[in-house]
Amino acid sequence: MTVTRFDDIKLTIPTFDGVRAEYDQLFAALDSASTKDARLAVVHDWDQLRRRLSTWESLVHLHFEQDTRNEQYKKDRDYSDELRPKLTELAVKMMRRLLERELRSEVEAKYGPTCLALWESEVLTFDPAIEQELVAESQLGADYTELCAAADLEFQGEKYSLSTIVKFRQDASRGVRHDAEAVLWSWFNENGEKLDLIYDRLVQLRTLMAKKLGFASYIELGYKRMNRIDYGRDEVEFYRQQVREHVVPLCAEIRKQQRERIGLDKLYAYDEPLFDPAGNPKPQGDHDWMVERAKEMFDALGGGLGEFFHLMADGNFTDLKSRDGKAGGGFCTVFPSAGMPFIYANFNGTQGDVQVFTHEMGHAFQCYSSRDMPLLDYVFPTYESCEIHSMSLEFLTWPHMEKFFGDDGERFRTIHLGQALLFLPYGVAVDHFQHLVYEKPKATPSERHAMWKQMEEMYLPQLDWHDLSYPAAGGRWQHQRHIYSSPFYYIDYTLAQCCALQFWLRSEEDFDTAMSDYVALCQRGGEAPFRQLAASAGLKSPFDEGALADVAGKARDVLGV
Ligand code: ZN
Repeated sequence: MTVTRFDDIKLTIPTFDGVRAEYDQLFAALDSASTKDARLAVVHDWDQLRRRLSTWESLVHLHFEQDTRNEQYKKDRDYSDELRPKLTELAVKMMRRLLERELRSEVEAKYGPTCLALWESEVLTFDPAIEQELVAESQLGADYTELCAAADLEFQGEKYSLSTIVKFRQDASRGVRHDAEAVLWSWFNENGEKLDLIYDRLVQLRTLMAKKLGFASYIELGYKRMNRIDYGRDEVEFYRQQVREHVVPLCAEIRKQQRERIGLDKLYAYDEPLFDPAGNPKPQGDHDWMVERAKEMFDALGGGLGEFFHLMADGNFTDLKSRDGKAGGGFCTVFPSAGMPFIYANFNGTQGDVQVFTHEMGHAFQCYSSRDMPLLDYVFPTYESCEIHSMSLEFLTWPHMEKFFGDDGERFRTIHLGQALLFLPYGVAVDHFQHLVYEKPKATPSERHAMWKQMEEMYLPQLDWHDLSYPAAGGRWQHQRHIYSSPFYYIDYTLAQCCALQFWLRSEEDFDTAMSDYVALCQRGGEAPFRQLAASAGLKSPFDEGALADVAGKARDVLGV
């Protein structure tokens, strides 16, 4: 079923007793089912229930992000956060049941082995004994979001949020760039203690949960919570090593080229967002204009993207403008029982608007393409695979960038490719940092800042904060929401970027084949784990020798560094 207007998604708020009664019925039906078909019908009914609950949760969280100052939305979110561990407990009970010997083979024959591997991993991440910690964890995540969303930065006589100040980071005037960056970091300086405290509580809570569940540290639990079923720490460590070897030196050259292009003797942190003396390309119109260009672009791109985007735009499944009280960032969420996703962004007039938009559209298109998968677990894959859909679409839309940037299309592509590569060392630094943090959970806030500094030295050796004392002392990680709210969700972007860069290479050689492989990958959703999905789309695994070396080599030629 597809609901074609966002406002038509109407839900009754679930109660724990109500959901438990539904589960009781499902368990009773399983007990009394005498045929395979009857048992599998229960799995189907369970799946429908999970889709309904997931739709409700997505909606509650979306509302909160859209207006963090709305008291009712906050209450709804708190209620959902409190209910979630109880709902997880029920879901895990069902998973355990389906993993038992007799049922397991029937489930596997119908749905394949991936769901079983996912459930096996998931049941290890939950026990009623950690219910309080889970609720507290969500609340601390919301505290971080609220604190950042309330930031009120004064710059050039106007008020800006952490999202909207970003446009000055790319200003062609060095003084403006510096001062905007200084205003941003002075907010972090003023709020540093609060941010340290929120994070410390999160680290303690997560470590406690890991201990209660029998893990040596939160790292092992964190990997399980990310549903990683076909790779572990060794592979991730190998990949970070590959980034150090093949990408860090390349990035030093990209920065050198950038410094020369913008005519500076020294490239400081506040110069890094500017890639061109003329200023970075900007979309040549406002929000409504961009949506019209996007319609043209997706119509021309084919593969069903055009029809889908019209559906999204006409049904109001987007919220793209920045406004007061709206939480920062961009994301795609999905309402599984409505068969539709939703794109959230904070347009600020920079080239990033186009990137965020094509990125989230990749997620949205994938969710939509696999909405009829037989299990909710397969509607979307694990995160590193999800990010392939989004980051690859950023490259597959390259031929249409003139629609947004006019004569600056080529400049946009050059900058985008450079940024895609520059992102990799930063991304693995965020990942490595979290390994250090959770290996030593009793570290003090200042020790954590020192850990981050160590990461910058290792992965971003040419970064120089100049007179911006707060990040110079190791505070930059506090601006990275994932570190607070989605632990260990960051390597995923870098793994996916390695895959997206391969799509870029292939689209330059044979666009139509790359595009049809992309659409086929989206349609597979999460029916297989990461490495299998990547292989099925003709991509080299980032965990294999050579995947990064190949793309780095080609990028070097194209960028002329
Ligand atoms: Zn994404």
